[in-house]
Amino acid sequence: MTHYNEAIPAAPRKPDWRDKAACRSDNTDRFFHTTPTRVQEAKGTCFGCPVMYQCAQGALHRGEENGVWGGLSEGQRTTIRKKYKIHQLQNLDTVKTAVDNALRAELHPERTLRDLWDQHTHPLPGGHIGWHGPVGSFSFHGIPVTPKQLAFQIDRGHKATGIIRRAPECPVVECVNPRHLLDNQERIQRRRAAEEAAVQAAAQEQHAADEALPEAG
Ligand code: SF4
Repeated sequence: MTHYNEAIPAAPRKPDWRDKAACRSDNTDRFFHTTPTRVQEAKGTCFGCPVMYQCAQGALHRGEENGVWGGLSEGQRTTIRKKYKIHQLQNLDTVKTAVDNALRAELHPERTLRDLWDQHTHPLPGGHIGWHGPVGSFSFHGIPVTPKQLAFQIDRGHKATGIIRRAPECPVVECVNPRHLLDNQERIQRRRAAEEAAVQAAAQEQHAADEALPEAG
């Protein structure tokens, strides 16, 4: 007896998508374990199943409370059922969207910031770096990120403070070389360092001028 046939007890039926179930000759118990490792094993079968969405749709409609169905755990099905009205789940495309969203992290492990950077940047002459990824801000783990923020975070290992601007010495408008970028905090530090250097230079100049004066008398 398969996982699927158990949920829909033996009854004469016409051939349908259930005949393509990856679990059709599987041990039913496999899909009803509760330890995370065993749940993931069952999900692994579903992720390779050609009728995963149809199976998920059926389980959502029947209100299956236990086990893995259509790649979804009990908690994931509960979340979907809270989010969608039952009539919306009659549409297979809606089910696909709901399932894909629920399983995104499992089916498509998120790329890292470094992956995005490597994929969307290219070298420019003079040590500058160009960006050919999404224009403006884009979503990463649901958080909007700009190319400059991405560059800054990868290079500095932390998020920027305030607005990121090109350093004055970088003349290339589209450059995202993180070493050519400064956030608010770094601009303030730079300005203070420049002011201190100017004060020191003025003091040294004054000292040199004093030294050069002929002694009175
Ligand atoms: S999605 Fe999983 S539970 Fe559903 S039919 Fe396929 S293998 Fe069986």
